[in-house]
Amino acid sequence: MKKGIHPEMKLITVKCACGTEHKFYSTRENVRIDVCSSCHPFYKGSRGAGAFVDTEGRIEKFKKKYNLD
Ligand SMILES: [Zn+2]
Repeated sequence: MKKGIHPEMKLITVKCACGTEHKFYSTRENVRIDVCSSCHPFYKGSRGAGAFVDTEGRIEKFKKKYNLD
């Protein structure tokens, strides 16, 4: 691989908002994710109430913060 032709791939650690760390190769060093296979309801295959309660809570916090109510 000649320098300057291909972007350099690095093994980086990306931490999800849920605290789970994922390692994968990327040309970028700073990558942030909010959902991952460990915490996203879709991946879990669960439509349990917990996931929706958490989402509602986030929306309420957002509304209060910006006085949208
Ligand atoms: Zn996650």
